[in-house]
Amino acid sequence: MTDFTGLRALVTGGASGIGRATAELLAARGAQVAVLDLDPSGVRKPLRGYAADVTDDTAVRGAVAAAVADLGGLDVLVNNAGIGAQGTVEDNDDDRWHTVLDVNVLGLVRTTRAALPHLRSSAHAAIVNTCSIAATAGLPQRALYSASKGAVLSLTLAMAADHVREGVRVNCVNPGTVDTPWVGRLLDAADDPAAERAALEARQPTGRLVSADEVAGAIAYLASPLSGATTGTALAVDGGMQGLRLRPV
Ligand code: NAD
Repeated sequence: MTDFTGLRALVTGGASGIGRATAELLAARGAQVAVLDLDPSGVRKPLRGYAADVTDDTAVRGAVAAAVADLGGLDVLVNNAGIGAQGTVEDNDDDRWHTVLDVNVLGLVRTTRAALPHLRSSAHAAIVNTCSIAATAGLPQRALYSASKGAVLSLTLAMAADHVREGVRVNCVNPGTVDTPWVGRLLDAADDPAAERAALEARQPTGRLVSADEVAGAIAYLASPLSGATTGTALAVDGGMQGLRLRPV
């Protein structure tokens, strides 16, 4: 694993799950790390927490400016804040579509817009977006969520093309089912959470869920100079869900 000493990183949605694991990993490897989250009250030193809702452009600009001032610059942006949505196109009304796209797509646009002027000044600038296998897998009951992550994948490619000559690399990770508080909340809502978890694990080629630390490791690789020639890619971190084409057992 690379050494992040001297690098400065901002992780959105870094107070929980994948974002938290990523922020902690980057800090453990020497980075100075700022976390932008709706609720950063649980963020502990050496991480620095900044409260902002990614749907609020003014708040995002303020939080990014404060983080960059405190860190003394910015080398890495991890666009990770996101929310879920279940159902077919019939199951969510326009308000819900606007809400989810506002967080998952426009949220990423807002933080990127605020961060790019600072990233251009870095010798090791990298953006890593948390996408999902939902972007390309054709998952049932995930129309809205899949559309939002499809946009994240397209944005990753477009941003990579737009900023490659400015020395800013842009990649994304496509996690499968990751054992985070988000998935915990979904399981808790089931009639029999333990049985639901067992069924979910049985559907994974590996027989287990992906851990947040495993996604953090992939994000750290794409954020680090180790992947200096990699831009415009999506790295699957899904226990083989997409690549292996296994039949469900
Ligand atoms: P999580 O709910 O554990 O953490 C999400 C974090 O984002 C929270 O700290 C929350 O406060 C923050 N957040 C949510 N809305 C925000 C907003 N409007 N402004 C600022 N912060 C906000 O979820 P997680 O499972 O760690 O998911 C993180 C990312 O990973 C999301 O983009 C999600 O789509 C993606 N993802 C998760 C899974 C999974 O199975 N858990 C799979 C694929 C992709």
